[in-house]
Amino acid sequence: MTRNVDGFGVPHYDAVRDRWSGTPPLPDGGELLLDLLARDRDATDLGNIVEARPGAVLVPGGAGDVEVMVAWCARRGIPVRARGERHSVGGQGLTAGGLHIDMRALRSIRAVGPEGIAVEAGVTLRQVVEAAWARGLRLASGPTGYLRLSVGGVLSVGGISNLPAAGSIADSVSELELVTATGERVRCGRTERPELFREVLGGLGRRGVIVSAVLDVVPAPARVRGWVLDYDSATSTRALVEDVRTLIAEGRTDEVSVRFAQPDVRTYRLHLASYYDAAPPDAPAVLDGLSGAVSAEHDADYLAHVTAVDPLYDQALEAGWDAVHKPWTDLFLPDGSFVDFAEAAMTVLRDRDVSPMAYGLWFPHRRDRFGTSLRLPEGGELVWLWDLLLDSTGMPRPKQWLGEMLRQCGRFADLAVSMGGMVYPIGAPASRARRHWPASEGPAPENGVFGDGPLLPAPRPRG
Ligand SMILES: Cc1cc2nc3c(=O)[nH]c(=O)nc-3n(C[C@H](O)[C@H](O)[C@H](O)COP(=O)(O)OP(=O)(O)OC[C@H]3O[C@@H](n4cnc5c(N)ncnc54)[C@H](O)[C@@H]3O)c2cc1C
Repeated sequence: MTRNVDGFGVPHYDAVRDRWSGTPPLPDGGELLLDLLARDRDATDLGNIVEARPGAVLVPGGAGDVEVMVAWCARRGIPVRARGERHSVGGQGLTAGGLHIDMRALRSIRAVGPEGIAVEAGVTLRQVVEAAWARGLRLASGPTGYLRLSVGGVLSVGGISNLPAAGSIADSVSELELVTATGERVRCGRTERPELFREVLGGLGRRGVIVSAVLDVVPAPARVRGWVLDYDSATSTRALVEDVRTLIAEGRTDEVSVRFAQPDVRTYRLHLASYYDAAPPDAPAVLDGLSGAVSAEHDADYLAHVTAVDPLYDQALEAGWDAVHKPWTDLFLPDGSFVDFAEAAMTVLRDRDVSPMAYGLWFPHRRDRFGTSLRLPEGGELVWLWDLLLDSTGMPRPKQWLGEMLRQCGRFADLAVSMGGMVYPIGAPASRARRHWPASEGPAPENGVFGDGPLLPAPRPRG
């Protein structure tokens, strides 16, 4: 039994230190943090919807520290979660009383070349994109919109870019190094332990801790030319969806996505971009027959183009955006029901719930380009990711608003599931996402260390 002396010099029983006494030495020189401050700092995520204070936080010095601590926790039935940038919003990486592993400590880029980019799992996509660009390369899958997300965190959900012909980011991984539920470090890849490999990708961390990955790269274009076309959501949703289908079927542009945001939530903005080296793409050929009105055209080098979103979030985070509630809804829909879903959702959405930082997104993708890791909705040539990224900035009664919006997330999810869709598990709350995410259904890890049993404590709104 561990006895501490409190601020008044009175000895007291310290249950936390007792539970974690006898932890093994960390072979790679990492640190196990047991103090309340460190555990409190790690008790929530970007969503600020759920809180779960871990019992300890491991800041690993290397994969060896992850191995010994997972093995130790597994023997004692203590749950473990790897954490990257903590940018999921529904408590996906939290576990009350368990071990959080701060993967941000593992940030080396091991190799960059045409055969791939080999990185530790805590490396951000921003680092990956910049390192690849320095060698004239880009991620074959394309990156996410915001790049300050860890490789391990993104591969654990799948990762969807705005390249409709690229599949998921998880589809552009050739190899992983993983610490399994027994604390064993193993390699898996397209040909080595392919089943385990498939289960890890998009598997929400329940098959193990990803400690490193090799991502596919292709030659980067020198420049990118883009267009924005506007469509009135009240009258032109079907025309927009038809235009997207045509663009993707004919492979007219590399990037295709749709956004809607303040100050004009009811206008869909179709974002198109084509990559080129010498001769810019022919605008009339790209835009031929599309029914939207061109509202912007831009041209930039590839790195400036793919990093353009980061400063928006960096500034918002500095201004306190990390502390507001984020009841995000993220849903995959099959092609056949997408228009009906999008129209129905727009009739429910109230403009006043869309803050200046909030926005909606559509990412259409060719279904045949996804591998087997993410079992996405079937039916039709395309699969659509529909996101509604709301936050409580400026809402007069944020807690009450959060409750309403979580109920709305639930209604959107139920509607999507009833239309053959599923929930992409990056939103809120994590328990719902997990229920409707087939990739997390695989065989349970032998000892449940990564997540069988309750994923989350009851939601406790903050703010
Ligand atoms: C502003 C913004 C924009 C985004 N844009 C996109 C987008 O365009 N496309 C898209 O697909 N997603 C997007 N996302 C969602 C993002 O991809 C996921 O939330 C991702 O999981 C976040 O990575 P993270 O490093 O913050 O992970 P965390 O939130 O720390 O963890 C997420 C999950 O992964 C697990 N995990 C983390 N690291 C590991 C590891 N090394 N091994 C095993 N499991 C691990 C955690 O336990 C948890 O379950 C966006 C998120 C934000 C905040």
